[in-house]
Amino acid sequence: MLPASSLAALRARFPLIERLTALQPLSWFNPAIAPAAEALADVGLDKDDVAAASARLARFAPFLARAFPETQATGGVIESPLLPLPAMQAALSARLCREIPGRLWLKLDSHLPISGSIKARGGIYEVVKHAEGLALDAGLLSEHDDYALLASEAVRGFFGQYAIAVGSTGNLGLSIGIMGARLGFRTTVHMSADARQWKKDKLRAHGVSVIEYASDYSVAVEQGRRQAEDDPTCHFVDDENSHDLFLGYAVAGERLKQQFEAQGVLVDADHPLFVYLPCGVGGGPGGVAFGLKLAFGDRVHCVFVEPTHSPCMLLGVHTGLHELISVQDIGIDNITAADGLAVGRPSGFVGRAMRRLIDGYATVSDEELFRLLALLEQTEGWRLEPSAVAGFAGIVPVLEQSAYAPNLGNATHLVWGTGGSMVPEAEMDGYVSRGQGLMASE
Ligand SMILES: *Cc1c(COP(=O)(O)O)cnc(C)c1O
Repeated sequence: MLPASSLAALRARFPLIERLTALQPLSWFNPAIAPAAEALADVGLDKDDVAAASARLARFAPFLARAFPETQATGGVIESPLLPLPAMQAALSARLCREIPGRLWLKLDSHLPISGSIKARGGIYEVVKHAEGLALDAGLLSEHDDYALLASEAVRGFFGQYAIAVGSTGNLGLSIGIMGARLGFRTTVHMSADARQWKKDKLRAHGVSVIEYASDYSVAVEQGRRQAEDDPTCHFVDDENSHDLFLGYAVAGERLKQQFEAQGVLVDADHPLFVYLPCGVGGGPGGVAFGLKLAFGDRVHCVFVEPTHSPCMLLGVHTGLHELISVQDIGIDNITAADGLAVGRPSGFVGRAMRRLIDGYATVSDEELFRLLALLEQTEGWRLEPSAVAGFAGIVPVLEQSAYAPNLGNATHLVWGTGGSMVPEAEMDGYVSRGQGLMASE
């Protein structure tokens, strides 16, 4: 907690803090939102950086197709399906007793190959970028080679001289760990107390060292950073500040644009696109939103959704204090069943870079996450983890913003479903039945 005097001063300046501390589900739309043409300059990265990331992933596709047979069908491209959700839209609408104008869609990052979450974008990108740099420097590779050669035992032996470390609540660890280990890196994942046992077990089965902490995400990240500082051969994947992670996520923007075009969905000045993204430290949703703004400009409106127990990005952006404030500072515990979002202190890099590009922020209770998860399974058959359904809670706040009203009838609402396909069946059954129970007692 902050000292009482500074907390009182902060509360006086930002009345929203009291409602956050009371764990009320709420939303806040950002008065600083600005045209993309102007605000994209805040980021310090541009479309050429995203194009370079995209080209690098294309170079690695032959390697990925060889190393991970589940990516063979897409030629080593790690991408997720985009699907309409008519039954979920009808059920949500009935439950809310209000129409949801426009059409609802789901982006199934829950089913991304290799690590089954949105982290398969940024995490895998950062590992392959690091590997490429080492291999190029050592003369083992040129950019024109077929990167499938990186799957050889000799190259694995070379990467074995190097280490990778990361701090994670679970899914980033899975992504970095599986990819790092497959290339041959000595990989260590520092796991926060929120991390699910099956994620640790899976990593250990891949030969990854998993170090467990009784404390939260920020401590796990700090320990990972320290390990890397003591070891010059160790690359630390910095979830709070990494530009590479951010660019790996941003590649999604252009790809989504192609997917909507292929489905015949129009996004233009009269047909706005609303994208609802679950937010933890901010890198995943921030990077995706950056890519979306580059691809769609002012036609896309991004909304971040966080658990009521972990509203770190909302708090950081709203107060302008970014990483200098944590949810614990205002008396919130950062304890949530949405383990992927259990972050108490936001990325200052993302908060500042995207300050004028994110339309709004909303919070959602854990109970509501379970209900949404159960409703999605019941109506559409998709089984997502609690963190991954947070986006659904952003829809009503958008419908209530009068500024959006004129074009809502033509809107496309896209919920970014961020994880879940690797959750063990028994654990998923437990999530679903908990949600069904909560719905029955509603
Ligand atoms: C990590 C994660 C997020 C949020 O990403 P951040 O980069 O932490 O903001 C959302 N959903 C799931 C399932 C995640 O694992």
